[in-house]
Amino acid sequence: MKISELGEFGLIDRLAQAFAEAGRPDSLLVGIGDDTAAWRASGVQLITTDTLIEGTHFSLRYWSWRDLGWNSLAVNVSDVAAMGGTPEQALLTLALPPETAVADLDELTAGLVEAGREYGTAIVGGDIVACDTLMVTVALTGRAAVDADGEPLLMTRDGARVGDVIAVTGYLGDSAGGLRLLLGEQETDPEAAEYLKRAHLRHRPALAVGRTAARLGVRAAIDVSDGLLQDLGHVCHASGLGAEVRAAGVPMSPALVRAFPGQALALACSGGEDYQLLLLAPGHTIQQVQRASKGPVSIIGEMVADPEHRVRLLDATGKELSLPAAPAGGGSASGGGWDHLREAPWRR
Ligand code: ADP
Ligand code: MG
Repeated sequence: MKISELGEFGLIDRLAQAFAEAGRPDSLLVGIGDDTAAWRASGVQLITTDTLIEGTHFSLRYWSWRDLGWNSLAVNVSDVAAMGGTPEQALLTLALPPETAVADLDELTAGLVEAGREYGTAIVGGDIVACDTLMVTVALTGRAAVDADGEPLLMTRDGARVGDVIAVTGYLGDSAGGLRLLLGEQETDPEAAEYLKRAHLRHRPALAVGRTAARLGVRAAIDVSDGLLQDLGHVCHASGLGAEVRAAGVPMSPALVRAFPGQALALACSGGEDYQLLLLAPGHTIQQVQRASKGPVSIIGEMVADPEHRVRLLDATGKELSLPAAPAGGGSASGGGWDHLREAPWRR
């Protein structure tokens, strides 16, 4: 069956039922079905939104509808994580071609429900429009971490200081590597292939470590969505500083290094869609974060005074490396990361 046969209200009923079964937060007073949602809120609120467009941000040749559902919430959770907050209520706007199969829509919904359970968020409203291009927009609210006096503990892009160390959660480059495997540009052993493809298909925002970092006193952070060097560049500009990154410190998974010998560093520096967090703080604060978090938190460099706000990648002797040209499919030759104005790799 196609969604055009269900009609707008049949569709809303179907979504409302699926999201209701996933559970309802205690704070929610009015959910799907009224003119607005209503909920009890306290403290400092966060709000963010992100849109995924077929052919620009993803292709259903690689992503399943369930991946699309999961990722459309996960990319927003990542922004809340980067502020040190806790995600709460979400709105879902769907632009759907009328010939979309109801079974596909159900998979999309299932992916959203799965991610909602994982990250503690509920979909409390939204909108549906018919459109030739498939688009999914999620808007997400969150609660900022607060100190004992109720003052917000926010991690912002302009919060970095000279001498702060640069730390990154998890591994970088896995998602970009996974995309290249999905595109058939490279082959590797099945174990590495499975791990890397999954990293591309299912974004895993660093929510727990973000909250921990904010509570431990980290005041500057950004999530790595467009590539390490590009996103670190945003922090440099906002904070009025430069950054020195030691290439040898950039964390890469054994699978990435095995699958992309010679290209792993380029993928890790410029690949994008990692959804790890960059944390900028004094060394002793980062050490506390390292002790408190389950996954790896790697120190990769330091914030420095630099009126040109450069991000410099250094080798073991301190010599500047020319930024690695990212292999086909992502990044740009100038070492930048994902740029939405460039053509998506699956459209070539
Ligand atoms: P209105 O005409 O007031 O904009 P709609 O007919 O668009 O209302 O929506 C009716 C209800 O269904 C609202 O509560 C809205 O939040 C909810 N809704 C519509 N589309 C979605 C969606 N994609 N996901 C979740 N809830 C939705
Ligand atoms: Mg409406």
